[in-house]
Amino acid sequence: MTKEELLNKTSLFLLDLDGTVYLGDEPIFGVPHALKKLRDLGKRLVFLTNNSSRTAASYREKLSRLGLFERGDEVYTSGMAAMEYLRAHFEGARVYLVATTQVREEFVRGGIRLDEEDPDVCLLAYDTELTFEKIKKLDFFLRSGLPFLATHLDDVCPTPAGPMPDVGSFLAMFERSSHRTPDAIIGKPFSPMGEAILRRYGVERGQACMVGDRLYTDIRFANNNGFSSILTLTGETTREMCEKSVDRPDLTFEALPELVEF
Ligand SMILES: [Mg+2]
Repeated sequence: MTKEELLNKTSLFLLDLDGTVYLGDEPIFGVPHALKKLRDLGKRLVFLTNNSSRTAASYREKLSRLGLFERGDEVYTSGMAAMEYLRAHFEGARVYLVATTQVREEFVRGGIRLDEEDPDVCLLAYDTELTFEKIKKLDFFLRSGLPFLATHLDDVCPTPAGPMPDVGSFLAMFERSSHRTPDAIIGKPFSPMGEAILRRYGVERGQACMVGDRLYTDIRFANNNGFSSILTLTGETTREMCEKSVDRPDLTFEALPELVEF
């Protein structure tokens, strides 16, 4: 597929955050201008993250500060996709949610019934306020056989200070303690987040394009969901890693701005 063909067929660009539009606290060179060009072409921009420790509002604030976010753009997190999944598959259910305070509040605002004592289903998000009390409780509910959902599978979360344990690492602990693995995982590279996006934005699979720097989350997500994909080499992937990988992007760019340079 050529760049022109991809631009013509795509109405919705799904943009990964770290390694794609910014690195830590710095926008990647040329990306703010490239995003403006995409908006001028009438493309819808949705910033997509697996990180379920923060709310969309908190990402909007950061992206706006870095000059990456404009009116009409949206942020979509694996936490929001998990809310959508609960509404579709566990309507009205009481949910034991392991998550940060700001994300718990986002779920309550979204009409999800949280329950600490007698839930119907458990959801593990990226809880950077995790305590032993919460671990004990989730372990108990998992042992009792409740349905088990997780927002995503990433083992570590990149930070300027180095990688930190993420949900995948927490899941390894629960697998040891309760012998349970999630019944469904919502975020990239899996399909629940893809299905939620198609419903929310009302586009066909072929009209969506995922842009990201990770082969086994971003590019696999696109391939699992029938979206087009662009790999950017501004994050953790090198050209050599890409050539060896089973996860094949449609296009590979040194950086996102190449998409709109002619
Ligand atoms: Mg990334």
